[in-house]
Amino acid sequence: MSSLVSLLDRAAGGGRLTFDEGVRLYNDADIHDLGAAAHARRMQLYPTNVVTYVIDTTINYTNVCNVHCTFCAFFRPENHKEGYTMSHDTVLERVKYAADQGATQIMIQGGVNPELGIDWFETLFDRVRREYPDVDIHSLSVSEIVGLAHVEQIGIHDVLSRLKAAGMKSLPGAGAEILVERVRKRISARKVKPHEWLDVMRVAQTLGMPTTATMMFGSIETAEERIEHMHVLRELQDETGGFTAFIPWYYVPFKTPLRGREATGLEYLRVLAVSRLYLDNFPHLQASWLTPGLKMGQMALFYGCDDMGGTIIEERVVHDAGSTNEATRRDLESLIVKAGFTPVIRDTYWNTRNDIALATAV
Ligand code: SF4
Repeated sequence: MSSLVSLLDRAAGGGRLTFDEGVRLYNDADIHDLGAAAHARRMQLYPTNVVTYVIDTTINYTNVCNVHCTFCAFFRPENHKEGYTMSHDTVLERVKYAADQGATQIMIQGGVNPELGIDWFETLFDRVRREYPDVDIHSLSVSEIVGLAHVEQIGIHDVLSRLKAAGMKSLPGAGAEILVERVRKRISARKVKPHEWLDVMRVAQTLGMPTTATMMFGSIETAEERIEHMHVLRELQDETGGFTAFIPWYYVPFKTPLRGREATGLEYLRVLAVSRLYLDNFPHLQASWLTPGLKMGQMALFYGCDDMGGTIIEERVVHDAGSTNEATRRDLESLIVKAGFTPVIRDTYWNTRNDIALATAV
């Protein structure tokens, strides 16, 4: 059996880890050694001190949802008096608010609301595209795509093709949680199965839509199941090359039906570092500061991350679960600079946006 040192050396050089080796590193490697290897791999991929971020917003257009995940404090079932669905005009107002602050990306995401047909989204996206042509529609989630296929009684390919034609350029990796059936049965039993999540991503990627992949960890999964999640993503990436980034974030338990505990900072850093090493074919690793907070987001830059994610001007799903973290552009840039890196603004496709001025003098 290889020593931990030789495993870390191989992974830091971009060598592929087996599933068992990934589990072993996750369970047994020293956190500092893991961080050093992940950072070395990040510097090998991007031998520069640039750390990117995107100016974006999340508009949670409806909280009505028929999926009822136990880790979610945001949704309301159909006909609940606290259920809401924004009008198109309200969504457009929020897009304007973000665009006025320089946003290049909007994530329009919400519950799986069976009252909304695909024409509701086509009309909305077409308006956004025409009124804000400089803003990329990086929106919805696999759950919402599958929900639309059910409502319309059409296939996933047709749903995504129509949304793409209406202006949706890319599909975020939301709704993955942990792509292991045992876990999903406990935390999101009515959600798509792991292979269905991967199938939707495959179709989007085949249609030329860039996608990201997320992992919500810290609910009930084991270390092995975290690596299994990374493993199925790595397999699909080998096949399609369609993922731009991996975004692991941890579950916020405080106001959810599932409850449980919050992951620790060290657990967050361990997941990041192992992700960077295991997902040898993923271009980018994002620091998801929204749940662990800005200071942990800064630490993430030394555990394999090359990107600080987005400003997320508005967001309700994670905040309803009990997160209080928020950041301005100035905050994100300051964190990056104080960690010794140079902030650079990017768009959804990782094109640098030198036409947009930084918020702080660097
Ligand atoms: S996580 Fe998404 S799909 Fe699950 S209940 Fe909440 S809004 Fe619905």
